[in-house]
Amino acid sequence: MPKKESIFHYFEHIFGISMPFYVDKILYEKEKYQTHVYVEYNKALTFTSSCCKEEGCQIKSAHPRTWRALDIVNNQTYIHINLPSVKCKKCGKTQDIDVPWARKASNFTLEYEQKMVAYAESMSMSANSKTLEESD
Ligand SMILES: [Zn+2]
Repeated sequence: MPKKESIFHYFEHIFGISMPFYVDKILYEKEKYQTHVYVEYNKALTFTSSCCKEEGCQIKSAHPRTWRALDIVNNQTYIHINLPSVKCKKCGKTQDIDVPWARKASNFTLEYEQKMVAYAESMSMSANSKTLEESD
């Protein structure tokens, strides 16, 4: 396997980017300490609608979306995709598809949200234990 492919697979693995999505390009902005991961998919594919979970819905349009992912060694990391909207075969609504790495309407990846929740919980626990004068 060529080196370039293995690093792309690594990014897919750590960010939960799974088929039919794949990492197409990784840009590193040295001055900004930012890593940008660009995700692609086969435009000929059909997708499952997010409303009725109906399979085989065709892409109607696409628009750029970005999610903040967990930092990679202190580099802010962002996932980008031209997110497809599909027309639901069941109800007729046109909606963005769901992606495996983030909740609907969230601008953060699932792991990023989990870490923020864990951080908030540990902060409040240490604040609480201070108030109660107990060690955590
Ligand atoms: Zn529907």
